Amino acid sequence: MNIVTTTLRRTFLSALLSAALPAALATSLALPAPAAAADDKVLNLYSARHYQTDEALYEEFTKQTGIKVNRIEAGDEALLERLRNEGANSPADVLLLVDAARLWKAQVEGLFQPVKSKVLDERIPAHLRGKDDGQGAEWYGFATRARVIVYNKASVNPDLVRNYEDLARPELKGKVCTRSGAHPYMLSLIGAMTEHLGEQKAEEWAKGVVANFARKPRGGDTDQVRAVATGECQVALSNSYYLVRLMKSDKPADREAMAKVGIVWPNQAGKGTHVNVSGAGVAKNAPHRDAAIKFLEYLASDSAQLYFANGSNEWPAARGVKSTNEALQSLGEFKADDLSVASIGRAQVTAAKIIDRVGWR
Ligand code: FE
Repeated sequence: MNIVTTTLRRTFLSALLSAALPAALATSLALPAPAAAADDKVLNLYSARHYQTDEALYEEFTKQTGIKVNRIEAGDEALLERLRNEGANSPADVLLLVDAARLWKAQVEGLFQPVKSKVLDERIPAHLRGKDDGQGAEWYGFATRARVIVYNKASVNPDLVRNYEDLARPELKGKVCTRSGAHPYMLSLIGAMTEHLGEQKAEEWAKGVVANFARKPRGGDTDQVRAVATGECQVALSNSYYLVRLMKSDKPADREAMAKVGIVWPNQAGKGTHVNVSGAGVAKNAPHRDAAIKFLEYLASDSAQLYFANGSNEWPAARGVKSTNEALQSLGEFKADDLSVASIGRAQVTAAKIIDRVGWR
């Protein structure tokens, strides 16, 4: 028994030492905190959005608060990679990402901190917020987008595709195209399907969709819409803002493509259309936490909501704010699924397993 105890103790001690040594080294090697750490007149925004119209959005914040916004813009993956590398010394105050699947990923990696705010509580509906363990949500949705079904008007009766479930109908064999199931937009939709149907039924559905493919998944949402317009396939999925972008495009080919496709708001007789968000949260080690919260509260204000949503052709997320985007409004009204984006984000783990098993790549 003594031998066992000693061995245990030794193992424990060496484990403790090997854990403690690199930690001590890391502390002594740690970079100094950014010089502006105590200065709340600056805000470092890491953003996966890049719209020219956002300029006015940030300028207005500076005008109202005197806080200057430093922007780091990059793709979602590049931003996350940068935050991981910067670790505790990251100057990031606010992290802005699109799609619950990506926001959730940043959340489980510990890149956000919870924020309690009366303004955000009042303005942003609870189902459009990230995980909240009682300390406030880790991220908030500031604009919404819908994932819609697009069909070729010349060859498809829209009554065949009223629901996401219909994409698995045998009548659509060889007619469906989608982007890769591994993309966040698809993971979120498939995740929402698993939340509603359960894993087994969602997998059967996914299998049926794959069996209906006109071609191997490739390209982005816009490519699927174009493929439907040319007749390469007959039915596809797209986020709503891509359709608005094509409608507003100054390229005649884009507008001609839009004239050939019809849009269905899926699942109007049931749970409603899958809705996702562009969202933001306060970064885990934000040097300017107060400014970061002020910025999120600003994003939820009426005027900022319109700048933010119009810039990306999305709908404002805050309660009571109506879109002023005419092209977007021309798509009409629809019943949105109110499944929480926190659970949609979480469900992508199951969704990823499903797409592997059914070969939705
Ligand atoms: Fe997109």
